[in-house]
Amino acid sequence: MTRPIARPEQNLWDASAAASLGVLDGLVYRSNLLGRDRSVANYGGGNTSVKVEEKDHTGLLRRILYVKGSGTDLATITADGFTALKLDEVDPLFERDSMTDEEMVAYLSRCQLEPNMPRSSIETLLHAFVPFDHVDHTHPDATNMICCAEDGERLAKELYGDSDVWIPYVRPGFALSKQVGDAVRSNPGTKLILLAKHGLVTWGETGEESYSRTIEAINRAVDFVNDRSGDREAFGGAAHEPLDAEGRRRILAELLPVLRGEVSRETTKIAVVDVAPGVLEFACGHDSKELSQVGAACPDHLVHTKMRPLWIDFDAASDDAETLESKIVDGVRAYRDWYEGYVGRNRADDETMADPNPRVVLIAGVGMVSLGRNARQARLARDLYHRAIAVMRGAHALDSFVSLTEEESYAVEYWPLELYKLSLSPPPKELEGKVAFVTGGAGGIGEAIVRRLNDEGACVVVTDIDHEGAERLAQRLGIEAVAVTTDVTEERAVANASLEAALSFGGVDIVVSNAGLASSASLEETSVELWELNHSVLARGYFLVAREAFRLMKRQGTGGSLVFVASKNAVVAGKNAAAYSSAKAAELHLARCLAEEGGSDGIRVNTVNPDAVLQGSKIWEGSWREERARAYGIEPEELEEYYRQRTTLKVNVLAEDVAEAVLFFASDARSSKTTGNLLNVDGGVAAAYPR
Ligand code: ZN
Repeated sequence: MTRPIARPEQNLWDASAAASLGVLDGLVYRSNLLGRDRSVANYGGGNTSVKVEEKDHTGLLRRILYVKGSGTDLATITADGFTALKLDEVDPLFERDSMTDEEMVAYLSRCQLEPNMPRSSIETLLHAFVPFDHVDHTHPDATNMICCAEDGERLAKELYGDSDVWIPYVRPGFALSKQVGDAVRSNPGTKLILLAKHGLVTWGETGEESYSRTIEAINRAVDFVNDRSGDREAFGGAAHEPLDAEGRRRILAELLPVLRGEVSRETTKIAVVDVAPGVLEFACGHDSKELSQVGAACPDHLVHTKMRPLWIDFDAASDDAETLESKIVDGVRAYRDWYEGYVGRNRADDETMADPNPRVVLIAGVGMVSLGRNARQARLARDLYHRAIAVMRGAHALDSFVSLTEEESYAVEYWPLELYKLSLSPPPKELEGKVAFVTGGAGGIGEAIVRRLNDEGACVVVTDIDHEGAERLAQRLGIEAVAVTTDVTEERAVANASLEAALSFGGVDIVVSNAGLASSASLEETSVELWELNHSVLARGYFLVAREAFRLMKRQGTGGSLVFVASKNAVVAGKNAAAYSSAKAAELHLARCLAEEGGSDGIRVNTVNPDAVLQGSKIWEGSWREERARAYGIEPEELEEYYRQRTTLKVNVLAEDVAEAVLFFASDARSSKTTGNLLNVDGGVAAAYPR
């Protein structure tokens, strides 16, 4: 191997910390410790339990099983994430020969100590049937290298001797739980159970014993795989040289909008790029394409990664961007055909087919792109595929990687209990999966727009000339935002910002041109510089951003919405602001021209006309406030009142009011049939009424 498989963190059990904890908190501690290393317990995967005597609501002392609730994650689980079940009601199930999932779920829900606890994990009975107080079930990379090896059972015997029991693959549920319970009861010397193509079960008299057995089983598997695979190169050696960072950036920026457009026919997706060294090693591997098509490395991955990723062959030496583009389009279409066939062949009842597009796309020599209906889902597919790559790497070096068959995969992917886990996630927000690009996004109206669009579920590219302000806002919004320093008057800077949008989220759907400035001067006092400054930001800047938006949106082929933030001054003539007002008028007319040009591609272009947004708006921080006050013959601090009295509704206009109007034009759900339009957000100014 070019790089030995790393051990997970050593045994992290802190006996003194654990000793002070009660039973349930001890279970939380153990669970969090297992979840801390994703090579031990993947996202949402695995479950833990403890059996304890506790009083029920009548004061009766009963034996209780605390077990992880469905849809929680070991790394972050708290006491509330566990369900408590009355064991005297659960234990008799071990005498049964079979039980359907529905019967099991209905039965267990009646065994809960409290009615409003989370639904117990799919693998609950496995914990109940193992006759020890502490049980852990995980899907560690290292033991799954054995579990997913063709000759895994024999290899496991060599590795663990008589201390392990191997159970051939069976879908989690009553039958598997019973087999595990039987195996532990009838093999007293056993310390762990390996579930073929699935994972590991350990137990103990104490939490520490169960945890330590998991870590020991993993570390022994790591040493075994490293030892046995000898000098064998990972993934059969490198078939490609990875593309250099600059080439990769260029290629990805070109192809991501095409890919995102192609997979977003049914629902819009967020794309996340991953070019980490381990991913690149896989993307360049000689055997990787074949390996990637074998199947999932753990049943837990299936609903998030699907049975297999889409693999795109790419040769940087001979393929240009155009060739790659057609390979991506053809590849996604072929993938969808395969997926529809897979569902058709295996459908038992009339299950509704899930979105047929790939969740993971590997591009030879370039890297991995994961897709999801939001940033979190796209990252989850990525993170689970990291686990798959690690397992394939070890299993392939050791032996031959095997996975669930197509029927087994389907049975898990469309298993009602897995679908139930998905149903726990909140319903999609209005702009979920959409990417918004906002100029001048760091403060004032721009920040209000960024926040409003993000509140509705959009990922946001916050661009601003104010680097720190944009960074600060993006960081506050977390994984759904990225900051790009951009001067909208610079052609290259705008092109670069567009490229960053493609690299960050896969493309763009909503572009809000909001970057602005204002100046006030009589005509004679207006310098050429002042004139050009207004026109370079408000006319040229809006043109440059719109041009990049059109280019990107057309590559995506899924339409889009451009919203210009203009001003009342775009339509109302006033004194002492000729440079500003004429530039705003140019902006407004540009929007109308672009509405005509974008229509055939489903690109809508609309304008919001705010007036006198003083609060939070950056343009009022400069001399504009004083200049305006002087123009009206009032004191600067009288401006709010002056503007309020000037409106028909006698109100002040806030940045949030403008953001609301932007959302209206941005959202297809609200304004899909509106383009070339103009919406005043000014409290009513008769001179600006459209006619
Ligand atoms: Zn499992």
